Amino acid sequence: MSSPSSDRFSRQIRFIPFGADGQQRLGSAAVAIVGCGALGSVQATLLARAGVGTIRLIDRDYVEESNLQRQILFTEADAREGLPKAEAARRALAEANSGVHIEAMVADLTPESAGELLAGIRVILDGTDNFETRMLINDFAVRENTPWIYGAAVGSYGIAMPVLPGDTACLRCVYPEPPSGAQPTCETAGVLAPVTSLVGSIQAMEAMKIAAGYRDAVRRKIFTADLWSGPLRETNMPARDSDCPCCVGREFAYLEGRRRAPVSLCGRNAVQIHDRMRPVNLAQLAARLEGLGAVRSNEFALRLDTAEHQITVFPDGRAIVKGTTDVGLARSLYSKYVGN
Ligand SMILES: [Zn+2]
Repeated sequence: MSSPSSDRFSRQIRFIPFGADGQQRLGSAAVAIVGCGALGSVQATLLARAGVGTIRLIDRDYVEESNLQRQILFTEADAREGLPKAEAARRALAEANSGVHIEAMVADLTPESAGELLAGIRVILDGTDNFETRMLINDFAVRENTPWIYGAAVGSYGIAMPVLPGDTACLRCVYPEPPSGAQPTCETAGVLAPVTSLVGSIQAMEAMKIAAGYRDAVRRKIFTADLWSGPLRETNMPARDSDCPCCVGREFAYLEGRRRAPVSLCGRNAVQIHDRMRPVNLAQLAARLEGLGAVRSNEFALRLDTAEHQITVFPDGRAIVKGTTDVGLARSLYSKYVGN
């Protein structure tokens, strides 16, 4: 890794509160981005160009055509190849700044994997699309005293909030229970790219302050915006809840896996099978599936298209079954095509 020319970050260093010291600290910091969709694309782009030392990208999904409208790291070629988002992102970011160490983890953040995937990280950015994973991040962050930046967007609406364990409220102080009933999702309600770009930018800014050693400069506010009809608003974060089971009681129910629901992805008529962590040889599987549907595979994933379902299998044994929300059916399709 060559040292960057003095010009590379000159505009950032010139900004007095940031300065050369901030740049140096940024260059030695490791950040994790959980979910490399619309929010994660923006966060990763800004942080890689800013000169964060290490960016760990954690994403279990692969690039599809419907992502391209807002997931600004990806190209039509990535969608055609069905590349995993983490890997496609790594390639794009390396072109933007070859000096950043980028770790592409094609993996699911689970209670079992969180410890390993988030080890050694100075700040975690939320680029996920579901409540359970955010609560899992919150549990881990509070337990390990690692700051994280919450963010979400749907339709024309977005929200962002920093969580500084021991200092601010945590996500569970703000949302004690999962939302009840059907929630709007990007699939059902759509989402506009300027909103995800705005929220991702705010998250990246706060993460940059922390990574550069300016934690005191983090804006302890809840930012909300409706970019279609307004308003843009900043409200004070609530005080820490003295009854919060997480940051006060130090019970980490999500991290211990006690609150885990079967995961279906962002309401998109898909089920993920993630409890069979056994490696699968994709080349052998591709040969076995010949004639059962259209099969495409590369070293990262195999996709089988049948008349009604699309099954994507990853080398670690994980699979995403599209075309159903029935967990039982998804499991039986997995058994049928991949094995028990
Ligand atoms: Zn709390």
